Amino acid sequence: AAKAAGRRTSRFFEPAMEAEVRARRVLETDLRQAITDGGFEVYYQPCLSLQDNSITGCEALLRWRHPQRGMISPADFIPIAEETGLINQLGEWVLTTACREAATWPDHVKLAVNVSPVQFKSGTLALKVITALAASGLAASRLELEITEAVLIRDDDAALAILHQLRDIGVRIALDDFGTGYSSLSYLQRFPFDKIKIDRCFVTDLASPEGSSSIVQAVVNIAADRRMTTTAEGVETEQQRELLRALGCSEMQGYLFSPPKPAADIRPLLTTHRQDPLAARPARKRKP
Ligand code: C2E
Ligand code: MG
Ligand code: MG
Ligand code: MG
Repeated sequence: AAKAAGRRTSRFFEPAMEAEVRARRVLETDLRQAITDGGFEVYYQPCLSLQDNSITGCEALLRWRHPQRGMISPADFIPIAEETGLINQLGEWVLTTACREAATWPDHVKLAVNVSPVQFKSGTLALKVITALAASGLAASRLELEITEAVLIRDDDAALAILHQLRDIGVRIALDDFGTGYSSLSYLQRFPFDKIKIDRCFVTDLASPEGSSSIVQAVVNIAADRRMTTTAEGVETEQQRELLRALGCSEMQGYLFSPPKPAADIRPLLTTHRQDPLAARPARKRKP
């Protein structure tokens, strides 16, 4: 039976794996090409105060416009960029581009940039942040770096040292996708975050009978205790917004107000709809 299974493996699974490896290699080549050709764009998604609906900041989200395959989702190419180390170049480009853009926004609007664990551990992140801030003229206090729990597991002391280095520069640190992966409440105690981003899965599940409102409430309470703010990700309905506000969550992000959009489409929102952007927002589409 083992022999038969072994043969079956080689006949059916190996070719599939080979095809996958080949597809990845092609994507890797295309990625390198896109980095030299400028095939990327940064989109921005506004983040709103749940108290007064004002836009408090925008998150930079990377987009790859592939010449043949069209728009490729970050979920599909960031892992390859991480494995190949290309994320370091790509991440530096996002940081520089987004800081330059944000420097043209009203002063009260912050910028959030996602940082991969690979960049975080590269040893050059702090220097790149300082360089991007200096080149753009953006105040350090207006930049927020989003990191995930993946950077915290294993080498606690090293991660803590980097976080303090970044804080000394004056940038803010947000813990992204909180509640997924290897989440541990002890992280909130050990590491100096300014903000917790509550993952979309808890927001989606908020209104169901056995829903996640008690979890969200607990996270909001812990955050308030430790003087951190909370942002709910993936808010798509008025009901979710109302519940989140009632639970004391500070900010929201999601298709309800706006999907990520090119800089030119976001810029007018930041200056005109300062008072109540939700009241003033255009008719909503289902997908970005
Ligand atoms: P993330 O940082 O957690 O970003 C939030 C994701 O949720 C974005 O997906 C955003 O478009 C999506 N989103 C926002 N509002 C809604 C909503 O109401 N409903 C739904 N269904 N989705 C919503 P996106 O842009 O595809 O990015 C996916 C992930 O890729 C990001 O998750 C982040 O982890 C990573 N990523 C994106 N840009 C960068 C980057 O420049 N550097 C690094 N290292 N990672 C990036
Ligand atoms: Mg993020
Ligand atoms: Mg997130
Ligand atoms: Mg996410």
